[in-house]
Amino acid sequence: MDYKKHITIVEDWPQKGIRFKDITTLMQNGPAYKKAIMELTEYAKKQQADVIVGPEARGFVVGCPIATELELGFVPVRKKGKLPREVIECDYGLEYGKDCLTIHKDSIQPGQRVVITDDLLATGGTIEATTKLVEELGGEVVGLAFLIELAYIDGRKKLEQYDIFSLTTYE
Ligand code: AMP
Repeated sequence: MDYKKHITIVEDWPQKGIRFKDITTLMQNGPAYKKAIMELTEYAKKQQADVIVGPEARGFVVGCPIATELELGFVPVRKKGKLPREVIECDYGLEYGKDCLTIHKDSIQPGQRVVITDDLLATGGTIEATTKLVEELGGEVVGLAFLIELAYIDGRKKLEQYDIFSLTTYE
C-alpha cells in the first residue's frame, strides 16, 4: 500500500522548518489504518514479542491495536507526572524541544521480549529514551516498529544496535 497518500504533510508546524507528518488522515481511513496495523503486527509476531511498549500519544495509536491483535499486553510510556504509580524516568531530546519520559516500575518482567512502537522515527531521541527505560527494567528490546521513518534525520544511527522496521520512509 502507498501509505504516503494517506499521510498529510503540514509545512512549518509546530514551528518553522518542520515538515510535520500528520497521521490523523491515515487513521481516518479504516482500510489504510487496518493494513498498517496488520503489517506492523506481522513484524511484532516475527520478532516474537511478549509485550508491546509505546510512548504517548501516537505510540499508543500504533502499539495498542498491535497488542490486542496478538493478545499481548501494552505498556504505556508517558511524560513525567502522568503515570499514577511508582515509575522510573529518562530525560531525552526531541527534533523540537526536550522532555522526560517515565514507565511504571512493575510493567515489564526481566527477560521479556519487547517491541517498541511509535508513529514516526525522527532523531530517535524518544525511542532511545524508551529503550533505556525498558532495559533498566530488564526487558530485551527485540524490535522497533514505526509507520514513518525520516531518513534525512537519520535516527537509525542512534539506534543501530536494534532491529528497525518502518512502513514508509521520507528521503
Ligand atoms: P524523535 O524523538 O526525534 O525521533 O521524534 C519522534 C517523535 O516526535 C514521534 O513520536 C513523532 O510523533 C514526533 N515527531 C518528530 N518529528 C516529527 C515530524 N516531522 N512530523 C511528525 N511528527 C514528528
